[in-house]
Amino acid sequence: MQSTDSILKLDKQHVWHPYSSMQAETPVYPVKSAQGVQITLNDGRVLIDGMSSWWSAIHGYNHPVLNRAIEQQLHEMAHIMFGGLTHQPAVNLAKKLVDIAPEPLQSVFFSDSGSVAVEVALKMAIQYWYAKQQPQKNKMLSLRHGYHGDTFGAMSVSDPDNGMHSLFTHTLAKQLFVDAPACTFQQTCQPEDIAAFTQQLKQHHTDIAAVILEPIVQGAGGMRFYSPDYLRQLAELCKTYDVLLIADEIATGFGRTGKLFACEHAAIVPDILCLGKALTGGYMTLAATLTTAQVASTIAQGEPGLFMHGPTFMANPLACATALASLDLLLDSPWQQRVQNIEQILQTGLSPCQSFEHVREVRVLGAIGVIELHSAVDMQVIQAQFVEAGVWVRPFNKLVYLMPPFIISTAELEQLIEAVVGVVKGIRHSCG
Ligand SMILES: *Cc1c(COP(=O)(O)O)cnc(C)c1O
Repeated sequence: MQSTDSILKLDKQHVWHPYSSMQAETPVYPVKSAQGVQITLNDGRVLIDGMSSWWSAIHGYNHPVLNRAIEQQLHEMAHIMFGGLTHQPAVNLAKKLVDIAPEPLQSVFFSDSGSVAVEVALKMAIQYWYAKQQPQKNKMLSLRHGYHGDTFGAMSVSDPDNGMHSLFTHTLAKQLFVDAPACTFQQTCQPEDIAAFTQQLKQHHTDIAAVILEPIVQGAGGMRFYSPDYLRQLAELCKTYDVLLIADEIATGFGRTGKLFACEHAAIVPDILCLGKALTGGYMTLAATLTTAQVASTIAQGEPGLFMHGPTFMANPLACATALASLDLLLDSPWQQRVQNIEQILQTGLSPCQSFEHVREVRVLGAIGVIELHSAVDMQVIQAQFVEAGVWVRPFNKLVYLMPPFIISTAELEQLIEAVVGVVKGIRHSCG
């Protein structure tokens, strides 16, 4: 096997990591393998995974059922172009997604990553109004603290400050924003909570194609949980003002918040739904954008009559076959119970952090646990401390957060939490 030193040397010389500098001093850790909720580093250390590889590995790693699905598909074909051709994994996955997604979402556009699924959603909304001969309805209205991906369209609707819109002023589409909802998950939505949103719609609805948001949980833009009542009222307002609603469930989809889709907390149905991340159980990169027959047929009947998008690796068979297996695995498992159990243990286990002076808030929803600090963590210091403590946790800014695989055992989860609470407790001493 190649030595760890040579891997690290090549990495440092040539490889860019997410949101990092090529001169980064923060270490990266070579991984040898992963199994269940355990990540084995090249040096033999074993870490309990608290991240599910960014919301995706809900069944844990190296799962025999997912391995079998991908191996079986590999013997048929790894890939085939999707223009003019179709295949069993794609049509069966589309049918399954339509079956489990809220009615009346029924047309599925496959793409290769979450950001692209969002681009596709934005284009669908714009083409919809173009087909209805209202091309001036081409702006998006979005919530501050949102995150929808790293491509230009997705960036334009993500939080303007987090997304560094100032850096891209001349290339980014200008969109409309309202402050993130102030009402929390447990609260009802008061008129003043939704007033800014209503005002924007009232004033700009003739120019707005769609509202795009992450239902209930805003992920990478701040790990905030907000009121289902807010979402319900917002969805009503979209109907009143004739604006489409795009739900970006790339992070929240497939059970993470305790419901299969976070929209279910508010019993709303978006016009367009984006899925990704956990779709293949973290095995392959695959995303999907679902819409209603009404949106699909309007696009079909207008000019140019075609939906103008088509990725090279659209509906990759290996990814579709794995996604199908992953969905069956999820739906046949007691996932509600597992998520509820994780929620309870996170609530109990993380609560001591509430009393730490440097902790602003602890919040838990479904299989998501968040410790928000008063100031940003020192990544160099804290990352090493987590690894020392035998866990894989990747904080950002002021947020230390956990979203373990659903299959984590109570003992493993308690071990993970104990390590995290210990490291967070120590921050006070290291940062003063
Ligand atoms: C991760 C994420 C995306 C982007 O997905 P990628 O696969 O990283 O392109 C979009 N929206 C939300 C809500 C996400 O969490």
